[in-house]
Amino acid sequence: LIRFTNVTKSFGDNTVLDDLCFSVRPGRHVTLIGPSGSGKTTILRLLMTLASPDSGTIDVNGGRLFPADEKERREVRKKIGMVFQQFNLFPNMTVLRNITEAPVRVLGLSKDEAEERARELLDLVGLADRADARPSQLSGGQQQRVAIARALAMRPQVLLLDEVTSALDPELVAGVLDVLRDIARTTDITMLCVTHEMNFARDISDEVLMFDAGKVIESGPPEKIFSEPEHERTREFLSAVL
Ligand code: ATP
Repeated sequence: LIRFTNVTKSFGDNTVLDDLCFSVRPGRHVTLIGPSGSGKTTILRLLMTLASPDSGTIDVNGGRLFPADEKERREVRKKIGMVFQQFNLFPNMTVLRNITEAPVRVLGLSKDEAEERARELLDLVGLADRADARPSQLSGGQQQRVAIARALAMRPQVLLLDEVTSALDPELVAGVLDVLRDIARTTDITMLCVTHEMNFARDISDEVLMFDAGKVIESGPPEKIFSEPEHERTREFLSAVL
């Protein structure tokens, strides 16, 4: 479970998250949509502990992320993986090493164990034959699939996806979506996605949260949000992006 309770976050006099409350049940696939600047990426950054809230509490799977002491926060943080828009692979390492590095260093897996798991994950993302390639030898879509495998190698209970298809050429998007759909179907990982692509939201999620000015103004299954939005702001937003 991910739970934000009365979370406020400001940058100077810009209140980005305003007494925000929402929760995501275990195993759900939830997408955050809303206008630019509505605070979606800030939510993912808080969950990655790349930023801290000014007030409120954030809980993940029974542990407290904020406010919490450093040790508790690190334990909770370990259950959360993230895939970024720009892949962020280590350029000087092979694909295999990109995936094994953190499990060996952080989880303490042996090199053999980590490699066996990495090869299974490469198989899952359709790149079993590219283990020895360097990231620069792969297409953007392939790099993003490696980044997904790398995140899964840490066995996260929660996977955060930040605009994971928006840096890709259109013809590469489908392959990444297929992989994510597979993961959504075959694992019990909770997924929290931020996207500007409504097809992605429709495809991946069982629930969509519409953000505006640092609050959730509407939520529901994608069919409902996209075809019968209740809130005027949601209608305006969708008519601008669809
Ligand atoms: P987008 O869809 O454009 O990515 P978003 O909904 O993800 O937008 P955020 O990236 O969360 O929005 O940003 C919300 C607001 O917070 C923006 O006005 C942004 O300028 C501001 N902001 C984010 N990070 C910082 C920072 N480190 N310092 C100052 N302002 C910031």
